[in-house]
Formats: sequence, structure tokens, C-alpha cells
Amino acid sequence: MQTSNSTTLVIGAGTWGCSIALDLSRRGHTDITVLDAGPFPSPISAGNDLNKTAEEANEASDSDSDADYFWNTVHALSMQKWKCDPVFSSFYHETGFIMAAASDAAYQACLEYAEHETAPLTALDTAEDFRATMPTAVLQGAFAGWRGFWKKKGAGWVSARQTLEAMYAEATRLGVHFITGCPHGRVKSLSYNAAGTSVEGAFTDDGVLHVASHIILTSGASSPRLLDFHKQLRPTAWTLAHLPLSDEEAKLYRNLPVLYCVDRGFFIEPDNESCEMKICDEHPGYINPVEDPATGDMSSVPFACTQIPVEAEIRMRRLLHETIPQLANRPLSFARICWDADTIDRIFLIDKHPELDNLIVAVGGSGNGFMTCPAIGPLVSDIVEDKPGGERLKKMMRWRPETSSDRDWWDTQGRFGADGKVMDFRDVQEWTKIEED
Ligand SMILES: Cc1cc2nc3c(=O)[nH]c(=O)nc-3n(C[C@H](O)[C@H](O)[C@H](O)COP(=O)(O)OP(=O)(O)OC[C@H]3O[C@@H](n4cnc5c(N)ncnc54)[C@H](O)[C@@H]3O)c2cc1C
Repeated sequence: MQTSNSTTLVIGAGTWGCSIALDLSRRGHTDITVLDAGPFPSPISAGNDLNKTAEEANEASDSDSDADYFWNTVHALSMQKWKCDPVFSSFYHETGFIMAAASDAAYQACLEYAEHETAPLTALDTAEDFRATMPTAVLQGAFAGWRGFWKKKGAGWVSARQTLEAMYAEATRLGVHFITGCPHGRVKSLSYNAAGTSVEGAFTDDGVLHVASHIILTSGASSPRLLDFHKQLRPTAWTLAHLPLSDEEAKLYRNLPVLYCVDRGFFIEPDNESCEMKICDEHPGYINPVEDPATGDMSSVPFACTQIPVEAEIRMRRLLHETIPQLANRPLSFARICWDADTIDRIFLIDKHPELDNLIVAVGGSGNGFMTCPAIGPLVSDIVEDKPGGERLKKMMRWRPETSSDRDWWDTQGRFGADGKVMDFRDVQEWTKIEED
């Protein structure tokens, strides 16, 4: 059998894998190999996208609740990089963020958000209030029932694919070896020692065994295919689409705040190059339940698709009708389902495996793993280096199967939209038939 040796093996060159490879190489680690199933950037990476929302958080304080402490600390670490690190800093666009809701129940989430937020917020209570957040002629919708808050500073969006490419380029320049595409980069299984107490490497589809001293599993929503996470991860899919704009229109829709409605969806200003505007409908997510014939246990198994359920397109068009009706009937130019791994509390899972030597897991983006990706590399590098400190954070991110033994796969995890339920891909009647250029 052909073997290849490295000191560190990273499984997944997605959002987190690139950040980890970048940070380890910047700290002087050498001999790092990163494997990915797709050609870079992988078409199934959640981060291979036009853009993502990004928000600054409050300053972390010892008196914060554990969850607030976790998010405030991770956001601060990330934002420092989005603003000051040359690899990241050209990709953060601080255009502002509107957090809105169309129903009373969802508006409660906005009120809680406003209560927690220390940055100045402007209340939006009428259609006129919403329209005034963007240049005249952009928001022509009726905004019936909409209320929310506008954070003018300290939030906006980040270019996603460009960030992935920048992390990859810098890590490559520093000597990281990426092996991407099937069969050479796709991991088929982990490789264990004879006693099953230690992970020694990974087998790729071409039959090569990649041996390393540290193995970092960071293959996103596909991670449960390679390791038993004891229900700590739920692969969940969301739906995104692109709306093509003309060059003239794109100019009008430039520098807009992100308009995010917790029970409808959101859109971000058009991409500079393609002039396409990304739209997402908001909902608690779709799962793809598959039963294990031996145990009867159910799990959600990701699959790739560059179409979306027609019901998702209908929800996106409803969002457009209510906000920018002048674009609501325009044909879409691209759509896909996009998978992320939800932990039970949506706090990341970044830890040494307690029973398998050499293995570190960095998973569970839970819908917030892009804006925080600059922090993931440093968090994982600290674990690789056994760096002391950060105990409160480590406790939050620990391997914690005891919290998910009775996991309800249908839990909405605090999300709104659609019928307020996690949806089942097996119930989808019809998929879009969008032709790509
Ligand atoms: C529709 C959508 C919108 C989102 N919006 C936001 C947002 O606005 N803000 C935000 O912060 N976050 C957002 N997120 C979440 C964020 O994108 C994810 O949390 C983050 O990208 C997860 O990174 P990851 O590295 O864990 O996974 P990925 O980026 O998915 O990377 C996993 C990688 O593993 C590879 N892989 C899989 N299987 C194998 C294998 N067997 N062998 C080798 N490689 C393998 C894949 O090819 C992929 O490259 C969104 C997610 C979705 C789905």
C-alpha cells in the first residue's frame, strides 16, 4: 500500500480547514497536508459562496453567560482579523445590518437581539423606516407587518469565496500541501492503530494511507461519515440562489446594509464582478433522514444539488415581493442547497477526541462558521500546541456527547421561517430547473 507522511493532516479544505492550515503554517508548523474531496474551492463547501453576513459582538466580560462569553470572544478574535489581517481585511464590508421580523413570534427574537446589543440601533417600525435604510428606489416593497432594528456600524458582510481563496493562497505560499479532488483528496475512512485507541491517518479513495502525528477532522457537514459523533452533529441544509442584475442596476444596489428577516430570509448587495445578488429564504433547515438498518437509528446524510426545492424559490420570491418587488419575478441564475453541521446548542465543537489519541475535531459551524472563520485557525492551533488558558472557551467547545444523547433531530434550534419546522427532503415535491450559464 502506498503511504504518505506528514506531521499534520487536515481533513477538509473548506472554510475551517483553510483557516487551520493558514494559522498553523503562520506559527511555523511545517509538513502540513490538507485533503479535500472536491477541486478547490470545493463545490460542496458551505463557504464556497458569494458572500456571508458578518457581525461584530459586544466586548466579552466575566459576567457574561457562558454562551455570550463564547460568542463575544470568538467574534472579537475574528473581527480583529477581518479588520487588521492582510489576508482577511479586504473582504469585510461594514455596510450595516438590519435585523427584522414579519411575525410577532419572530419579532421577539429581534427584541432579544436588541436587548443584548450594546452598539447603537435604530428601531424600524414602519415601511417608511425600512425604505429609508437604502437609497431611494431600492426598497419599494410594502413591508407589511415588518419591524426590526438597524445596526449602521459594526456589521455587514464578507466576500466568501475570495476569503477561501486568499487563505488557501497564503497557506500554500507558506508551504502547506493541498491534495484536492476525487480520488486523491477524498477521505474514505480514518486509519486506527490495532487497539483502536489512536488515529494514525486517513485512507483516500485512491488507496493511499496518509499518516500523520496530528489529524484534524474538519470536513463540515460530511464529518459524521468519517467518525461517530454520538449525535453531536446534525447535517442540515439551507437554500440559496442568485438573482442577476445589470451593471446599471448593480450600481444602484451598491453598499447596502444586509437585510435579514428572521422569518423570511435575507439578501446581500450584488457581487462586484458577476453583479449577482445572493438571496436566502430563512427557515429551520432541511434534513435528509436515513435509517441505519442495523440499529434503526436515524441520521441526516448530506447530498449535493445545484437546484433548490421549488417551495424555497417561492419563499425567496415572497421576500422579494415584500422588499424589492421590482426584482421579484426575475429568473434566477443559480441555486444550490448548502449543508452545515448543527451542534445541539450551536456552539462549535473544537476539541481533542477524548478516546482517540492524535485526533482533533473542528466541526459544528451551526450557521455562524463563516464570519468566525478567522478565529478557528488560532483556536485549533492552541489545541495542537497544548497551549494553556482559554479554559472557559475550551469548556464550551468540548466534546460533549452527554448533551445530545436524547437529541431531537427536528428541533428548530431557535430558528424561524417557512412553517416553523425542520423540513424533510423526502417530502419535497418539485425541484427548480435553473440552467447555469
Ligand atoms: C446557506 C448558508 C448560509 C450561511 N450563511 C452564513 C452567514 O451569513 N454567516 C456565517 O458566519 N456563516 C454562514 N453559514 C455557515 C458557514 O458557511 C459554515 O458554518 C462554515 O462554512 C462551515 O465551515 P466548515 O469548514 O465546517 O465546512 P465546509 O466549508 O463545508 O468545508 C468542509 C470541507 O470538507 C470537504 N469534505 C467533505 N467530505 C470530505 C471527505 N470525505 N474527504 C475530504 N474532504 C471532505 C468538503 O469538500 C469541504 O471543502 C451559512 C451556511 C449555509 C449553508
